Amino acid sequence: MTDLTVLSVVSEIFPLIKTGGLADVAGALPPALEAERVHTISLVPGYPAVLRGLVDPMSVHRFSDLFGGPATLVRGTVAGLDLLAIDAPHLYDRPGGPYFGPDGHDWPDNAQRFAALSEVGALVGAGGVSGIEPDVLHAHDWQAGLAPAYLHYRGGRRPGTVMTVHNMAFQGRFWAGLLGALHLPPDSFSIDGVECYGDIGFLKAGLFFADRITTVSPTYAAEIQTPAWGMALDGLLRTRAPVLRGIVNGIDETVWNPAADNLIVGDFSSDHPKRRVANKTSLQAWFGLEATPERLLYGVVSRLTWQKGVDLLLGAVDEVLRLGAQLVVLGAGEPALEAGLRAAAAAHPGRIGCVIGYDEAVAHQIQAGADALLVPSRFEPCGLTQLCAMRYGALPVVARVGGLADTVIDANEAALAAGTGTGLQFSPVTGEMLAAALRRTAALWQQPDVWRRLQLNAMRQDVSWRRPAGQYAALYREVAPAASRSDP
Ligand code: ADP
Repeated sequence: MTDLTVLSVVSEIFPLIKTGGLADVAGALPPALEAERVHTISLVPGYPAVLRGLVDPMSVHRFSDLFGGPATLVRGTVAGLDLLAIDAPHLYDRPGGPYFGPDGHDWPDNAQRFAALSEVGALVGAGGVSGIEPDVLHAHDWQAGLAPAYLHYRGGRRPGTVMTVHNMAFQGRFWAGLLGALHLPPDSFSIDGVECYGDIGFLKAGLFFADRITTVSPTYAAEIQTPAWGMALDGLLRTRAPVLRGIVNGIDETVWNPAADNLIVGDFSSDHPKRRVANKTSLQAWFGLEATPERLLYGVVSRLTWQKGVDLLLGAVDEVLRLGAQLVVLGAGEPALEAGLRAAAAAHPGRIGCVIGYDEAVAHQIQAGADALLVPSRFEPCGLTQLCAMRYGALPVVARVGGLADTVIDANEAALAAGTGTGLQFSPVTGEMLAAALRRTAALWQQPDVWRRLQLNAMRQDVSWRRPAGQYAALYREVAPAASRSDP
């Protein structure tokens, strides 16, 4: 039995449409919340992949004009998720990804596309769709940021509101002249409204109007209140500090389960870790590397961007070679970084391998076969790949920032003595310190008993959604209207 209903407003959701960790969170949190007696209805744009995937779709509301065309709100399910999709062909029926077309440029009407998502969110949140009365509206990232603002300016029934920042780098800022077109009143264009440095700021609006703000780790919650990482919104976040929390993400343990994963060659677990080696040799062979289990194999699964420190990684290739180690990289992103990785692989066949692209199966194979997973991010709100790595027994070697700092226990002398390490951290985030971390990792690799202990520690960490789901449920109960609140 659930006693609280949450409307999650989000621009991507696994398994229907995913560009990054946001989709993973949107898809995995709802099932985990059921154990907390919270039912989630997820509102998403009706991209082609979403409408194609929806099971038993049923029309629940019609709009004669939603930002320039007729639209239908469709309710259906997928993989146990309760979904509302906005079927608005003029906004979402396009090739390419959720945010940009095949040419890589943002859609010119993204302001309208995601204002529509937010406005429908506010309508459903306010009880405007019969049969659905959410207690809480949970807005994810800038694409949903206007929802708390619309609720504020429209008045009427108001659910509790939570705004979650998955990455401060993406804020959804648009030309001020769009105010009327986005159905926002003239007086909303103020510092106490949606205005953001002369633009309309979608994320800023959500941060200003939501009852509670969360981000995806306690360390990132602190970092974004500083000028260095607040991306110009640190002042607002400092004033809202009393309602700002960090809750780390989990991973979906059914999708990421090395004991039952049909994307990898050999199943294994913390009780049977030896069976892991088949994945390593298969991975080495697949990437054209020498298939020798003795060589330390580093892996990377990442968007190829400045944020992820991929330039630092390129600078560390020489150190990988000096250490006699190997490196496999899966990723896509900035053309210069893609080219750099291709060149490194071409220059060092047998030792460095890369696949440019997005590939779930290869991601699982790297997690299952690499000995260590490198995450040299300059900033990292939470990070999911290091959680997958721990579950799959690849020791995470991470920059000590954001959620990476909060989820990996550095195997320093104290941790080794206490038997508690789960990976390695380095700081500051420079090429020199990354190289030093690679050397520390190689030194640990030379001590098989110590390595095995760290690997088992990592595999036995609770990286599930259980604890975070409890924290979100408690937060929802704080903001739900009193009438719908009951003691947990
Ligand atoms: P971000 O959301 O900033 O990209 P996260 O670590 O939070 O980073 O989440 C990234 C998610 O996307 C993980 O599930 C990771 O496995 C996946 N991923 C990233 N790049 C690729 C890729 N090239 N192929 C397959 N999966 C990828």
